Amino acid sequence: MAAGILDDVAAISDEITELRHSIHAEPEIGLDLPKTQRKVLDALDGLPLEISTGQGLSSVTAVLRGARPGKTVLLRGDMDALPVTERTGVPYSSQVPGVMHACGHDLHTAMLAGAAKLLCARQAELEGNVIFMFQPGEEGAGGARIMIAEGVLDAAGERPCAAYALHVASSITPLGVVTSRPGTVMAAADTLHVTVRGRGGHGSQPQLASDPIPTACEIVTALQTMVTRRFDVFDPVVLTVGSFHAGTTDNVIPDDAKFVATIRTFSPRSRDRVRESALGLVGQIAGAHGQQADAAFVDGYPVTVNDAGEFGFALQTASALLGDARMTSMPFPITGSEDFSYVLEQVPGAFLMFGACPADADPATAAYNHSAEAAFDDAALSDGTALYAELALRRLAAG
Ligand SMILES: [Zn+2]
Ligand SMILES: [Zn+2]
Repeated sequence: MAAGILDDVAAISDEITELRHSIHAEPEIGLDLPKTQRKVLDALDGLPLEISTGQGLSSVTAVLRGARPGKTVLLRGDMDALPVTERTGVPYSSQVPGVMHACGHDLHTAMLAGAAKLLCARQAELEGNVIFMFQPGEEGAGGARIMIAEGVLDAAGERPCAAYALHVASSITPLGVVTSRPGTVMAAADTLHVTVRGRGGHGSQPQLASDPIPTACEIVTALQTMVTRRFDVFDPVVLTVGSFHAGTTDNVIPDDAKFVATIRTFSPRSRDRVRESALGLVGQIAGAHGQQADAAFVDGYPVTVNDAGEFGFALQTASALLGDARMTSMPFPITGSEDFSYVLEQVPGAFLMFGACPADADPATAAYNHSAEAAFDDAALSDGTALYAELALRRLAAG
């Protein structure tokens, strides 16, 4: 089966590359990607798929029903770009100023469309259904959550038994290498907003005012102490106060002080605990100084957790398809976050990183995803497409 898919993909590799270049040249940001959606619909045109498009976003959901009975598998590719001005110099560079496919989602979209074509050609032997999830708005807008609300997980009439997503990397991971890990693979990224409310006054007479600045400073350092004293070092928390603002000049005590922190956690349990601990600490320190604090913990993307069994299956599949040397285990999770986490909260599955570092670049020093110079090698497209298709074929055959 493995050699078959690689032979099949060779026959369509030019069209996958063309689709990738076309999407790359006309990148779109956020939940509304009409041109990208059109390109996906055109690429799927004529295939035996049940296609629906989103209401609140320009998603494409396509369902392939195999000729034989079986379960359902979901494959996801995200489609959105970033507010970055491209400096790669590739011939198919972005024609839209300030917008670039700097995270490689153009490759995901093209590979998923290619996989749909490969699997449609095998409809007669397919034992079950495949849902192709073409998703806008990964970079912050939570498109996956909206697609779930609009029913993508039920698109085939029953919940998938497994879900897989590939994500290309422009550095670190060598070209063509698949890497991931069981359990947590990416962090949750949440935000803490704090306003300490004191009472302003003259800088020379602090006893007549209620100065919010030292209180806010104390909270910032206490949050760092909380991270090291209340959390397991092997289930870490990263808390960074990236914005802190108070006051206007040296001799005026302001009424309030504000700061914002990003909080990265690697387990749902730590995520819940850090929310509770941070909010409690903010209120109690402000109270200790006779002040009040407004604190809000704003949820970002949840922890991305690979199912151990599905991770093992994906590892076996990648090894069988591409060879053992092309699959490596990731020692630690990535501190970034990913909205495929919403899918993995409901369906066991695996999120796999796939090396697309240019063949002539050193993975250790090449520009990373989101950089204006992040370049992704077309050579990754065929194997990525084949891997998407093979994951679905093998998983359905396993029942
Ligand atoms: Zn990204
Ligand atoms: Zn991405």
